[in-house]
Amino acid sequence: LAERIALPPRPDELHTLASAINSLLQRIEQAVEREKQFTADASHELRTPLAVLRGTLEVLVRKPRTPAEYVESIGFGIGEIDRLSLLVDQLLLLARFGTQAKDLKRQELSVLSCVHDVLHRHRANLSAKHIRVNVEDGDLPPIVSDPFLVDLILDNLLANAIKYSPAGSAITVGFSRPAAHLRCTISDEGIGIRPEDLERIFDPLFRSDALAHKQIGGTGLGLSIVAKACALLHIEVSVASELGRGTTFTLLFPAQPA
Ligand code: ADP
Repeated sequence: LAERIALPPRPDELHTLASAINSLLQRIEQAVEREKQFTADASHELRTPLAVLRGTLEVLVRKPRTPAEYVESIGFGIGEIDRLSLLVDQLLLLARFGTQAKDLKRQELSVLSCVHDVLHRHRANLSAKHIRVNVEDGDLPPIVSDPFLVDLILDNLLANAIKYSPAGSAITVGFSRPAAHLRCTISDEGIGIRPEDLERIFDPLFRSDALAHKQIGGTGLGLSIVAKACALLHIEVSVASELGRGTTFTLLFPAQPA
């Protein structure tokens, strides 16, 4: 290194160095800008349920209500508190990802049993909406990955498949084994995603403003958590969707050592 510094750079080398530094600076500026935007959006998202809660309580103290009205308002308030807690949990999870790479576990896992665990957790919602789930069985090799994050990914994708699907529809979880990889697909017969929204659905806080989507609650953080977790675990995640027909998310797990 000392020898290199001692050599005076040629003008064309200086030019290359300057443009490399400029493009690095530009990328840093863009990253800082994205962070600022995210913080502003997140504060807005956190303030909304608080404002709704405050408004509800203010109305309650202004004049006496009937017991039924109190019950209704308190129920509404609890819903806003739940939304706030979910947002805080998801934001903390996203913030933790930056430092988590070094804490990753590497453990043999069966994706099939992870899928069944997640489905078991969501059984109340599944049966309330009469959604059938077909899980393709098969002789699948174990993967070596982090159990908490794999569960988190599958949980978010399956929860969305349930949430964005009409009652009585079906969800299919399929597996295939291209080369030394394991591929898992989660397909629903739900409301689908507009082509112009597809490329943004993994962005933090993005929610489609299509009417059918706006009627369903959410924070817009689930898929950004999926994207970050997949990046950490070297899982390729992709999506294909047809509006009004359904959506398929595909997870391609990295090739496993023999
Ligand atoms: P949300 O909390 O809004 O569900 P996500 O980050 O999980 O946030 O998803 C982002 C957006 O992607 C959703 O608001 C929705 O518009 C769309 N989306 C995600 N999964 C599906 C799906 N299975 N079917 C239809 N739309 C989906």
